[in-house]
Amino acid sequence: MRSVTVIGLGPMGQAMTAAYLGGGYEVTVWNRTPARADELVTRGARRAESVEAALTANELVVLSLTDYDAMDAILAQAPPAALNGRVVANLTSDTPDRARQAAAWLAGRGAVQITGGVQVPPPGIGTPDAMTYYSGPKDTIEAHRPALEVLTGIEYLGEDQGLAALYYQIGIDMFWTALAGYLHGQAVAEANGISAEDFLPHAMKTMNLGYFLEFYAPRIAAGNHEGDVDRVSMGLASMEHVQRTAQASGVDGSLPAAVLKLFREGVAAGHGQDSLTSLVGVLKRH
Ligand code: NDP
Repeated sequence: MRSVTVIGLGPMGQAMTAAYLGGGYEVTVWNRTPARADELVTRGARRAESVEAALTANELVVLSLTDYDAMDAILAQAPPAALNGRVVANLTSDTPDRARQAAAWLAGRGAVQITGGVQVPPPGIGTPDAMTYYSGPKDTIEAHRPALEVLTGIEYLGEDQGLAALYYQIGIDMFWTALAGYLHGQAVAEANGISAEDFLPHAMKTMNLGYFLEFYAPRIAAGNHEGDVDRVSMGLASMEHVQRTAQASGVDGSLPAAVLKLFREGVAAGHGQDSLTSLVGVLKRH
């Protein structure tokens, strides 16, 4: 029977275990807080009584933890020999450097790391369009493709163990800041008696940034920051209006202030008449 170990039963690890159980896998689970496994055990998962037992139960061990510090804390509980021969699909998010260090550390104990960056929230696990960035040894990933694809599709980036973490962090960088912008906008809306539901169709249009990304990406890549369509000085004036509107609404202004600071730095660096894309260079100088 196909089998796998899942260590870490936060919302993501729970969804992954459920997907494996649904796919007919024998699943061994371990979690720092054992009670998080209770419901999965009633559905057929096997609870490992120790980290060592979890590691040695299967060749493929999926890690889904808050960060790599959690991984260190967990793996320190098992004798090093328990890792020998394991393939550790580390779907824990952290920095590219941590991913590379962990891969080297695991290699020193006879284990191979596959680094993964999951691109969907837990309800997306096991759904057709879900994808995960993967990097690390291609042959190992290919050997475990069927098991990995129970969770999501595979977007393979290369042998460098840090690549999947890097792509993931770049995506999350954009995601959190864009989502924070959405939340800030909804705070201004609510402060003015407009519900998030009422504003939803407008928010959907505004946050649909595909047109801008397709327009800007080739220009950024080519270093073309011509201010023929948009200018940093326009962005600065516009953000000042946003900040004043937020202040008049009694909404915290620190988020627009951060954007204002960036635009002001762009103008101070001589980019007032250049496109907003010139701010990429301003940001890189920090
Ligand atoms: P959580 O932060 O909820 O994961 C918590 C898991 O990590 C739990 O099993 C928790 O154990 C364990 N843990 C944390 N610290 C320690 C520690 N010091 N020692 C032992 N175990 C520890 O995250 P999610 O389940 O939501 O996500 C898992 C990973 O997937 C994260 O890296 C996240 O960034 C990534 N991810 C999450 C997405 C999401 O929408 N949730 C989307 C895409 C990626 P305990 O139960 O005992 O607290």
